[in-house]
Amino acid sequence: MIARARLQSLHAEEERRFVELHPRSATLAEQARGPLLAGVPMPWMTRWPGAFPVFVESASGARLVDVDGVEYVDLCLGDTGAMTGHALPQVAEVIAERARTGITTMLPSADAVWVGEELARRFGLPTWQLAMSATDANRFVLRFARYLTGRPRVAVFDWCYHGTVDETLAVLDGDRVVPRPGALGPQVDVAVTTAVVPFNDLDALERRLAEGDVACLLMEPALTNIGIVLPEEGYLAGVREVTRRHGVLLIVDETHTMCAGPGGCTAAWGLDPDLVVVGKAIAGGVPAAAYGMSAEVAGRLSGPMLGHEIDVAGVGGTLTANALALAAVRATLSTCLREEDFAVAVPLAERFTEGVAGVIAEHGLPWHVQRLGCRAEYWFCPPPRDGAAAAAAVDEELEAFLHLWCLNRGVLLTPFHNMALFSPHHTTADVDRHTQVYAEAVAALLGQ
Ligand code: PMP
Repeated sequence: MIARARLQSLHAEEERRFVELHPRSATLAEQARGPLLAGVPMPWMTRWPGAFPVFVESASGARLVDVDGVEYVDLCLGDTGAMTGHALPQVAEVIAERARTGITTMLPSADAVWVGEELARRFGLPTWQLAMSATDANRFVLRFARYLTGRPRVAVFDWCYHGTVDETLAVLDGDRVVPRPGALGPQVDVAVTTAVVPFNDLDALERRLAEGDVACLLMEPALTNIGIVLPEEGYLAGVREVTRRHGVLLIVDETHTMCAGPGGCTAAWGLDPDLVVVGKAIAGGVPAAAYGMSAEVAGRLSGPMLGHEIDVAGVGGTLTANALALAAVRATLSTCLREEDFAVAVPLAERFTEGVAGVIAEHGLPWHVQRLGCRAEYWFCPPPRDGAAAAAAVDEELEAFLHLWCLNRGVLLTPFHNMALFSPHHTTADVDRHTQVYAEAVAALLGQ
């Protein structure tokens, strides 16, 4: 359908254009190759399109400006870390104030009470804890689940992503659980620690949990890290029923799916998890995450929390729940990611989806675009039912080209996704700009 030779020559042209547009980033990238491994401060920054990463100068609202002065419509929003929009003045003010009055003391600040109450109100789970990142929060809830059930394994969906949690970097190879492709130096033997089940397959879940060795199912209510894969009608109710019947704790990771509304899918779809994890966007860009639990789980955990050796319990982080993070969460959740914010952002994502779907339909391509709340993503296959089907349709060459084409035209997509996230700071003109750029890319690819 897509002539590969044309794709490669178009891509080469875009690579040239990228280098021309970014002389200052090129210089910084060259300098960074000295002190920084692979020339970046953290590994996945090498995965951005172009010969080197664009170095950022500033970001505000839905805009990002690089060190060469090029401005972008930011549809990446820090892969959800800035789902509120960047550099919100009301959050910045609170952060600056807190920076002047002490950031980290290992003591709670009064904001902790507000934050706990607000998270309880949004997600319907009564009791909360803070963490530094969603990865940390996931690690902690897995530990609690094993402690509470006395069972050794955690279950996840095939092709899930929950951060750098060792046991979750696992996929199915036939019936076998194996390390996810790309997982460096596996820290644990996932064949021993992890049960992996396909998404949208209740029978497989039932069969696996019936073995009796699984402590918890850690899941996204819709997969968002291998395109967007939505749950089929009745599936999530089935998951709740099966997990409960087998005494398996249900943990909903809402780190990305908070795009569905102020209380994530848990509130939007009336889910009834034992534990919920949130992260990324809740502190307006300051590192912070949280996890909530049912009254039953909280009741069983509160005893151990008072133990003499709780400081070495494996749930920690010296800077976690620091006063800056708590102030930032409060400033963010009191002014962002509310019903009225989603009422602006979701229609933008709908418009994006319609625009992209229109281009796909116009050319009769076997692709699709999926949406969940203010998040949308296109993928180069018909809508898949599970993660493995989505993974099988990954087209790295095509994705790399589209990302670079968009970036060269001032539209930033999320790396290793074809994801666009909308904040209340985006405009319909931003959406239409992407649609136009995307339409031009597809036409070029088809030689039109
Ligand atoms: N959970 C989900 C669903 C995620 O997508 C991610 C990161 N993409 C994480 C957890 C981990 O978040 P962090 O990298 O901020 O720890």
